[in-house]
Amino acid sequence: MAHMSVFEKIVAREIPADIVFESERVIAFRDIAPQAPVHILVVPKTAEYANVAELAESDPGLLAEIVGVAKQLADGDHRLVFNSGPGAGQTVFHVHAHVLAGFAGSGGLEEGTLAK
Ligand code: AMP
Repeated sequence: MAHMSVFEKIVAREIPADIVFESERVIAFRDIAPQAPVHILVVPKTAEYANVAELAESDPGLLAEIVGVAKQLADGDHRLVFNSGPGAGQTVFHVHAHVLAGFAGSGGLEEGTLAK
């Protein structure tokens, strides 16, 4: 393949990652630059979809699997973030869910902190 996304390279074990879950169609690993006590990326193995809207339109079952894996790995309250487009901070155009969790120790997140 001419160009592989960084996540495809992780799926292919071409670059290392701290993998915490893997199924036939989904892989999850710790973000290399964590922005929360727990920061995991849940990623479909296919690079077909650039963002969550494309995934939802073409394969809602796969999106549901990603959400279910995110819930399982977060093990409690969490934020589930899909950046869509460079203006929203997306840098890897292979759809992925950010699972942000582990806030209990700091008393939890407050309302109104979403885009900070
Ligand atoms: P986004 O900015 O929403 O496209 O998210 C891409 C995420 O991928 C960022 O949070 C990066 O820190 C993360 N990332 C990039 N390369 C790697 C890698 N090799 N292993 C784990 N996470 C990565």
